[in-house]
Amino acid sequence: MMQIDLTGKKALVMGVANRRSLGWAIATKLAEAGAEMAFTYQGERLRGELEKLTAELPNSRLYQCDVTVEEELDAAFNDLGTAWGKLDYVVHAIAFAPRPAMDGRYIDTTRDDWITALEISSYSLLAVARKAEPLLDEGGSLVTLSYYAAEKVIPKYNVMGVAKSALESTVRYLAYDLGKKGIRINAVSAGPVRTVAARSIPGFIKMFNKVGDAAPLGRNVTQDEVGNLGLFLLSELAGGITGETVYVDAGYHVMGMQLEEDDG
Ligand code: NAD
Repeated sequence: MMQIDLTGKKALVMGVANRRSLGWAIATKLAEAGAEMAFTYQGERLRGELEKLTAELPNSRLYQCDVTVEEELDAAFNDLGTAWGKLDYVVHAIAFAPRPAMDGRYIDTTRDDWITALEISSYSLLAVARKAEPLLDEGGSLVTLSYYAAEKVIPKYNVMGVAKSALESTVRYLAYDLGKKGIRINAVSAGPVRTVAARSIPGFIKMFNKVGDAAPLGRNVTQDEVGNLGLFLLSELAGGITGETVYVDAGYHVMGMQLEEDDG
């Protein structure tokens, strides 16, 4: 297998809640490839878990950053800038929608819930890219996490689907802005993986099983496979790719129709 060497590179991962997080899947791949790691966590409640995890990654830096708080974004990027002076890679693995907005009809989403979901799940990428830009140089790269509900209606995803559409469009516009400096940005569109965020979606396990059955590979994607795609897109191997949404979903999204076993 071809090895990616990221020795001397510095990577920031935002959105690791625990070992199952997709942010952690990408982080471990970056660290294995030799990158020096920094992480942000949403609040004190999550710091302990991240400390335990990063004990495996010597010299990791941890910063508190709730993306809805401008001062925390400023402080995290200022502190990181002081510590490192530069940044090569950023992973944005953050999303949130208030529970009532994902249980019922999209048409009933309240103004506050809609704004909250879009602010945390879509606007935050823009905010992060703007703070990171001064630290990134040619060859710098960002990755965010999206989902098929950006493109097609997935019942219950509701406002989160709309937020992912805005996220993928944001990736395209940011690719245009940052491309002039040789900085790339892409979205990893992952199939369902059993994380904390995913399990909070009503009916997730049922959907997870259905997708696994219907996908061309006959299974769901693994956390490891999501990590590999994140590593690839951040690395120079993906040097010509920007503004893109790349699927890692065992092929599920290419299917137009699912047949039952006995349909022939
Ligand atoms: P997760 O719960 O492990 O991670 C979500 C992270 O978002 C947490 O670390 C949480 O602290 C962070 N977060 C939420 N609100 C925040 C805020 N205000 N400020 C800072 N951080 C905040 O779940 P995950 O599934 O690993 O989610 C990571 C990304 O992957 C999300 O964008 C999610 O939509 C996306 N994704 C997940 C799946 C899946 O099936 N798990 C599939 C496709 C895409």
